[in-house]
Amino acid sequence: MSIPLDTTGSLPTMQDYASENACTWCDGCGDYGIWTAVKRALVELQIHPWQTLLCFDVGCHGNMSDKIDGYRFHGLHGRVIPFAAGAKLARMDMPVLAFGGDGASFSEGVGHLVHAIRSNYPIVFLLHNNGNYGLTTGQASALTKQGVRMNASPNGIPEATLPSMDFIFSLQPTFVARTFSGDIPQMTRVIKQAIGHRGFAFVDILQACPTYNKFATHEYLLAHCREVKNHDSSDFNRARQLAIDTSDSIATGVLYQNVTIPNFYERLRSREGRETRLVDEVTPYDIGGLMGRLV
Ligand code: SF4
Ligand code: MG
Repeated sequence: MSIPLDTTGSLPTMQDYASENACTWCDGCGDYGIWTAVKRALVELQIHPWQTLLCFDVGCHGNMSDKIDGYRFHGLHGRVIPFAAGAKLARMDMPVLAFGGDGASFSEGVGHLVHAIRSNYPIVFLLHNNGNYGLTTGQASALTKQGVRMNASPNGIPEATLPSMDFIFSLQPTFVARTFSGDIPQMTRVIKQAIGHRGFAFVDILQACPTYNKFATHEYLLAHCREVKNHDSSDFNRARQLAIDTSDSIATGVLYQNVTIPNFYERLRSREGRETRLVDEVTPYDIGGLMGRLV
């Protein structure tokens, strides 16, 4: 992990990430826990708010964008990954975290997720997986449990639930973790390891949404989530099996990590031997003449 040079001589604190804006999440929302764990992870890694970029998609989680201090971006629905990846490639010295919901990430944004894994972009992707579109008042997402009644589908959703973890593993990821919004210490550990990963780090955070998700509640997740013990996270097949088999319990923790595969930037022949950052190489061009010929 590299971070911009710090000459302040001070260590970051949780207060550095505090915002004056009041949180508007519902009581008991898992976003509170995730918000806390993200700040803790950054502080424990000694990353100041000005040393990282936090990119948010649209959704309840996206409201975190003005509830935390630092450099932040709040983009269009399903489009957070391309922005985060582009920013990271321009500033390889800066950790970039992208946040997305299950609705956007597994519907209109799913193409970006596929190509982020395929490209092994060196960013962290935190999936706020609450099993529905919470911001628009509880419609079914691709990850909502089949048959469950949701707003706009009062007879139960007819579509099959997308097997998200099997899908992710089918794309040959280099980092997959799963954690739960009620376990702040575990989320903190997982996010720290994800930030240190060489390529694309996919972190599935099972998030309680007490207002609309009645099938995977905080209590359900508390009773079913089990941190993996003595697990060899380099064992792809075992990790995939742990990820998809949730019949008895839900395996959490870092399930898979492969540090041998170069990330997208490292594969760019045009960057070989270059010490400068892409952002330093941006050159202003006077396009006045060109524009003049067009009018
Ligand atoms: Fe949280 Fe659900 Fe309320 Fe959104 S609708 S703020 S996800 S509890
Ligand atoms: Mg959601």
